[in-house]
Amino acid sequence: MKTALITGASRGIGNAIALHLKKDGYHVLGTATSEAGTKQLEKQGIEGVILDLNSSDSKEQFWEEIENKDVSISVLVNNAGITKDNIVLRMSEEEWQDIMNVNLNSIFYLSKKTLKMMLKSKWGRIINITSTSASIGNRGQANYAAAKAGVEAFTKSLAREVGKRNITINSIAPGFINTDMTEQSDGVNVEELVKEIPLGRCGKPDEVAHLASFLCSEEASYITGQIIHINGGLYM
Ligand code: NAP
Repeated sequence: MKTALITGASRGIGNAIALHLKKDGYHVLGTATSEAGTKQLEKQGIEGVILDLNSSDSKEQFWEEIENKDVSISVLVNNAGITKDNIVLRMSEEEWQDIMNVNLNSIFYLSKKTLKMMLKSKWGRIINITSTSASIGNRGQANYAAAKAGVEAFTKSLAREVGKRNITINSIAPGFINTDMTEQSDGVNVEELVKEIPLGRCGKPDEVAHLASFLCSEEASYITGQIIHINGGLYM
């Protein structure tokens, strides 16, 4: 049985992906920032591990725990992400750095760690969850959009580095998906936003999870280095 690691699996898109990959027959390791989150995951049949991507200590502890489990990770879904919105003139160093740590630096850290396992088993999939913001920008989200665009460039570069080793790297760029993240977005008028979406509604975490599940499959073995948009037509 192959093992899949999904960051930020306790809620939203990450949770939907974790459940889909479990259904696909993977042993799923899912991360949460709290014990309550890992307990919730265990109830769903997902092995929960604590990870705070904004803390170097937590990242080190997490990786030690993974190594002690003696598992070989074949699929990595870099899903965990946060927003700390502000216009640039008011944005603090902390608001910039936290976003870079969680949304961009963590992708480098976990990809490098898990790639070593994928190289050994001569098969691997990395999926990075980015955002439409990376392509079109978003007022108040310069930090978030810059981090996600960085992840997309990382995706393409890494895909070129490891393609010959039977490892594919892709990004999924969602538009507006109904999760806690979008519920908490200050200043977003959902009704107005929906008017801009050709399909006339927000997306569901499950719809993103179907795409992730496909990208992990054998059928997707000739897809790498791509940014796949899922946004109801908001950006095309
Ligand atoms: P969400 O519902 O807010 O869930 C975020 C997940 O990330 C949770 O599992 C959370 O864990 C985890 N997380 C938060 N801070 C973390 C940290 N410091 N270290 C490690 N994990 C952390 O978010 P979502 O809407 O599902 O978003 C998932 C991904 O999709 C993100 O990368 C986001 O940028 C991207 N995205 C979302 C949308 C959207 O419309 N929802 C659109 C485009 C892109 P806890 O439960 O422990 O807090």
